[in-house]
Amino acid sequence: MKQPLSYCQRCGVPPGSALDLNAIDANDTGPFSSKKQGRKALKQLRSRLVELQERFYAWDKRSLLIVLQAMDTGGKDGAIEHVMSGVNPQGVRVHSFKVPTANELAHDYLWRVHKVAPRRRMIGIFNRSHYEDVLVVRVHNLAPSQVWQQRYEQINAFEELLHAGGTTILKFYLHISKDEQARRLQARLDDPNKHWKFSKGDLKERLLWDDYMAAYTDALSRCSTEQAPWYVIPANHKWYRNLVIANILVETLQSLDPQYPLPEDDLAGIVVQ
Ligand code: AMP
Ligand code: MG
Repeated sequence: MKQPLSYCQRCGVPPGSALDLNAIDANDTGPFSSKKQGRKALKQLRSRLVELQERFYAWDKRSLLIVLQAMDTGGKDGAIEHVMSGVNPQGVRVHSFKVPTANELAHDYLWRVHKVAPRRRMIGIFNRSHYEDVLVVRVHNLAPSQVWQQRYEQINAFEELLHAGGTTILKFYLHISKDEQARRLQARLDDPNKHWKFSKGDLKERLLWDDYMAAYTDALSRCSTEQAPWYVIPANHKWYRNLVIANILVETLQSLDPQYPLPEDDLAGIVVQ
């Protein structure tokens, strides 16, 4: 019998390939036909993730970096909340990258990123990342094209450096459709509890949707490497988005096969007084 594709295979952007985001269905729900089914599967995966993270932390041999990128309302915050809930917070750090400060701008663009790269045993989550420097910067001409054009290779070299230093890297692009973004923006306007998430600026960015898609296409196809792959996550359905991310995390951690370290001493004869 033919093995079904793993989620890593299903969603991974093959290195060196030409990516067509339009051909990827943001509404995809894979083999699942209902949210209920999907939620049940996520629950199981989360317990597995909690177990693997504990081993990974104890193992203390590598770090894991998760990069999250998406259009506004794409679900980066929701994915962090729902996929990581239950994981020991001591082993996880989330960093959200905002408009660079004057001090950050006075350095190279990777400075602020490298500073917060996860140390061994930690899972680092980047809510936005150095990819903003080839996305918003490109779309808004915040740097001349000669400058941002060089960044794809610089980013690949940077990620190669992190990988060589013991960091496993996973990059997730949460793929929503333009229609779904409209629904989510409207929901933020309609619900007073969501007003804090609404920014008029998001409406301006929405007008640049096609430019962003072109920038994402380049970033994902030029910077998906064997050591730091990009994954396109169908994200119109939040429950499926969470499920796919959880699957890829579990697959990745399982393949690292973290082990509890052996005790330093022979514990057999020790008596606790
Ligand atoms: P939010 O994630 O909604 O809090 O918004 C953060 C904002 O910071 C977004 O509009 C990003 O595009 C912006 N941002 C993040 N990194 C950069 C960067 N390197 N250059 C310019 N803007 C950035
Ligand atoms: Mg925002």
